[in-house]
Amino acid sequence: MTHQPRLFDRRRLLLLVSFLLFAGFFATTLFGYYVSKQAIRDAIIDQDLPLTSSNIYSEIQKDLVRPVLIASTMASDTFLRDWVLQGEQNVSEMARYLDEIKKRYGAFSSFFVSEKSGIYYTSAGVLKRVAQVEPRDAWYYRVRAMQEDYEINVDPDLANQDALTIFINYRVHDFSGNYIGVTGVGLTVDAVRHLIGEYQQRFKRTIYFVDGQGKVVIFGNRVDRDPNLRAAAGLGELVERILKDKSGSYQYQANGDNHILNVNYLPELKWYLFVEQNEEPALAEIRQTLYVNLGISLVVTLVVLFLTHLALSRYQKRMEELAATDKLTGLLNRQAFTIFFDKLVAEYRREPRPTSALLVDLDHFKEINDSHGHLSGDRVLQGVAQLLQDGLRESDIAVRWGGEEFLLVLRACDLAEARRIAEKLRQDIDEHVFAVADKKIRVTISIGVAEYDGSELPDQWINRADRGLYSAKNGGRNRVGVVLFPD
Ligand code: GH3
Ligand code: MG
Ligand code: MG
Repeated sequence: MTHQPRLFDRRRLLLLVSFLLFAGFFATTLFGYYVSKQAIRDAIIDQDLPLTSSNIYSEIQKDLVRPVLIASTMASDTFLRDWVLQGEQNVSEMARYLDEIKKRYGAFSSFFVSEKSGIYYTSAGVLKRVAQVEPRDAWYYRVRAMQEDYEINVDPDLANQDALTIFINYRVHDFSGNYIGVTGVGLTVDAVRHLIGEYQQRFKRTIYFVDGQGKVVIFGNRVDRDPNLRAAAGLGELVERILKDKSGSYQYQANGDNHILNVNYLPELKWYLFVEQNEEPALAEIRQTLYVNLGISLVVTLVVLFLTHLALSRYQKRMEELAATDKLTGLLNRQAFTIFFDKLVAEYRREPRPTSALLVDLDHFKEINDSHGHLSGDRVLQGVAQLLQDGLRESDIAVRWGGEEFLLVLRACDLAEARRIAEKLRQDIDEHVFAVADKKIRVTISIGVAEYDGSELPDQWINRADRGLYSAKNGGRNRVGVVLFPD
């Protein structure tokens, strides 16, 4: 029944339903993903990185404050000052003193530089004499001119194979307050480096110190970055701004990943503490969830699509059946026949086989209605329809043609055969007693028979059958009338 006008376009409806469903899922899932992503990013920017940063900052301060105290103790030590004022006589005494300090406090190195003699003493004795022209001694002249009591400075340590060292340089005064030199301790940066490495591992972050020139000074255990930050992918363009801002949060893209960066300036060291995190590993989990959710959405959409398709197909089939069926008798109705007839003609063209039409009309049916009532009439009509249907083969069809008229189309059936079948049907009904509401009703039928001539229009064919019916009625009813072709 594909010719039946569709109640709705099933394909478009299904497409629309799937689209709406998936779009809905997709939008919610994506929205959830972006909300989570933003939440994770905010947490990294607002809490995680600043927390790590301030933890490291305070650890480092702790590590630096103690040496400052040691240096301050040295600067006010009476032995040291007396020794200088007495003319720096016994070098071994000074060396022993410095060695004692070094051992007791676990410093990397300890020193005293005398203003008067210019001699640089260490725990090993005289290291050298400082000179204004020597660039490596510039620090001494800076401290000498300085207003503050001390400074923290990072330099290679001459006394320790040029290892990068954090120096606390403390000014020393005699008992009258005159400047007499600089003393202090040096700390290896290894301790700081170790600390950074630990933090890196614990928090899965990249931590390093950058100096005022934008060069990386201390990295954690892993050195996987060019010391010149200006050359770093993504980060390079930011360096100028970061050095100017001194502290803040930044984001940059490198290798397709988004990096979040927190910077803190350490005025004591004149260094910047960089703590950064690659956002991708943090997002991996919610991205996984995103994919799973999208997968579920797709499956649910497909299942709903399938179920809707099934329901619609059934519904549509039922609707089409209803549209093609006569309510009272369950036979095909007249509209369905027009579609059927088109198929019949197409079939006939492909393979011409004799096809015959039987037009059936109940005799004096008005009287049955009149004497038994319209409802009983209906029951009789149903009964006749059933008997007619029963007398047909699978390939034949029965149509309720009008009120109490039926059209039967018999395939692969010539006129003679059709006439025999008509006669048989007439006889079956003649002999049948319809039991309707305690009453026994008998009815007869008249039948007109015509074979399809292969070229006529349906109306012409049925008209010929109608003429056969008319002759049967005229001949006294309860009989078969045949119209031969050509007329
Ligand atoms: P005849 O065909 O033998 O000339 O006589 P008839 O009494 O059958 O006359 P006609 O075919 O003209 O009348 C048909 C009657 O069938 C009239 C109508 O009330 C009745 N009829 C038509 N459709 C239905 C129906 O669905 N139910 C019932 N109960 N009666 C119907
Ligand atoms: Mg009739
Ligand atoms: Mg009639």
